[in-house]
Amino acid sequence: MDALKQKALKKYSDNLAQLITRLSAFYEGTNTTIDAELKILRGHLSGKPDFSLAAVSINKLSPLLMDGDQHVRHQIKNKVADLQATVKKIQQLDQTPEELRRSIAQQLTSLSAPTTSLEQMFSHLFSAVSLVETCVKSSHLPEGNNESNSSGVDGAVDEVKTEIVSELLQWVDVYARKKPNDTELIELKTVLAEGLSEQQLLESCLVLIRVIINETMLDASANGKAIQRIHAAINKTDKHVASSISLSQKITERDNAQVEQIEGILGEFDSSLKQQKDVEELKTKAHEYIDQIRSEVHDKHKINSSEQEKLMSLLVDMQAQLTSLQKQTLSYKKRLVEQKNSLYTDPLTGVPNRLAYNERAVKAMSFAETQNDPLALSVIDIDHFKSINDQYGHAAGDRTLQVIAKNLMKNLRPNEFLARWGGEEFALLMQNQSDKNLKSRLDEMREELSQLPFKFKQTPVKITASFGASCYKNGETLQQFFERADKALYSAKKTGRNRVIIEL
Ligand code: GH3
Ligand code: MG
Ligand code: MG
Repeated sequence: MDALKQKALKKYSDNLAQLITRLSAFYEGTNTTIDAELKILRGHLSGKPDFSLAAVSINKLSPLLMDGDQHVRHQIKNKVADLQATVKKIQQLDQTPEELRRSIAQQLTSLSAPTTSLEQMFSHLFSAVSLVETCVKSSHLPEGNNESNSSGVDGAVDEVKTEIVSELLQWVDVYARKKPNDTELIELKTVLAEGLSEQQLLESCLVLIRVIINETMLDASANGKAIQRIHAAINKTDKHVASSISLSQKITERDNAQVEQIEGILGEFDSSLKQQKDVEELKTKAHEYIDQIRSEVHDKHKINSSEQEKLMSLLVDMQAQLTSLQKQTLSYKKRLVEQKNSLYTDPLTGVPNRLAYNERAVKAMSFAETQNDPLALSVIDIDHFKSINDQYGHAAGDRTLQVIAKNLMKNLRPNEFLARWGGEEFALLMQNQSDKNLKSRLDEMREELSQLPFKFKQTPVKITASFGASCYKNGETLQQFFERADKALYSAKKTGRNRVIIEL
């Protein structure tokens, strides 16, 4: 071999060695066994390449590379199949927007073509990720997958949920008081207190509806029975009255007949008096008539007293019936009042509940409108109430609510109506309350509350409340009226709490 040829050969082999070194560096990181062998190969080829040692290394590498290649292809195939399945799932979701459906169809078509490289696979992967992202943003993933849902929507849903839970808890309390050992109600209370998903919330509503229906049916049948009893008593009394009337009629008729008889005897006596000349005969005749009349009067007396006894006993019976009727009516009335009270009273604090508030507010609004009477509404919310529960326990929280409700009720004026609106919030309706002294009146109540000497675990604790208020505007709905007061409450909270803010 001449020197020129040798030089060219050396150049080719150097180029080859460089290419192998670069390729091996590029391939590095796929498989640790191959990596180690490639490192050795690069060692043989760098500097002054040793091709005989490199050939040993290449022999070892060849089967490893073939296996690795198959392994990678297999992996790609599996991953692409997984991706296809996932994308199909997204496609099957309800309410997927049309645009998204088109992208999904495109993605499925490209996934069905053979994927030959890692690069292609990664491109599929990135498209799928972006599909999922779009899907999540438009909230079309089923519950649980929707982790990155926008916090605004979540917040509103949570707020509604909290409100429903608080209202359900109030209802549960009403019925739990009637049936303290009812396991279904106890369980429901625990579930509600722990917080729940929409599904559980619906189930809880169902349980409660069942309890309410049962109780209402029981009440209805109890009321029905009470009415039946009263009916029976009235019927009995009615019969007594009817028979005593017919008895007195009989007595009157008999009396009339006897009076007629006596009158007849006396008439006869009168005419025989006129005929009698002899005094002795007259005496005898007079005696006869007197005896006749005596016997008549005696008979009449006998009849009368037996009939009067009958009448008396009828009257006594009737009086007993009337007394029992009166008792039953009274207890029925009491029961009805109790039922009405429990329906309209918050069991924890004893103050009217939201149902009572709603009814009262509607009446007050109509009065305000027709009589042009100023009406105000205040929403009172205890400050940092959650921390009382957290630090001193739920029972301490309950007790706090009771003390605060009691204090508010104690200072209530005749034109004011307080209700527990839910949770740690109260609603105060103030009729005939002008906006001029509304703030000073509410400040007075707020100040009173802040002075209450609470003590938990031997530590005195100051508890305050924030007040938001609004003055009724003719024509607005109760919800609008309330929302304005609630908005003012929000400002009171934001600007430092323990204050009154009025939205005129
Ligand atoms: P803020 O000053 O902003 O009003 O804060 P807060 O902690 O008072 O308000 P938040 O709405 O965060 O918490 C209210 C808490 O009231 C949460 C709830 O557990 C508690 N709560 C609601 N009803 C009752 C109840 O009947 N008894 C007890 N113990 N806690 C209740
Ligand atoms: Mg609150
Ligand atoms: Mg609060």
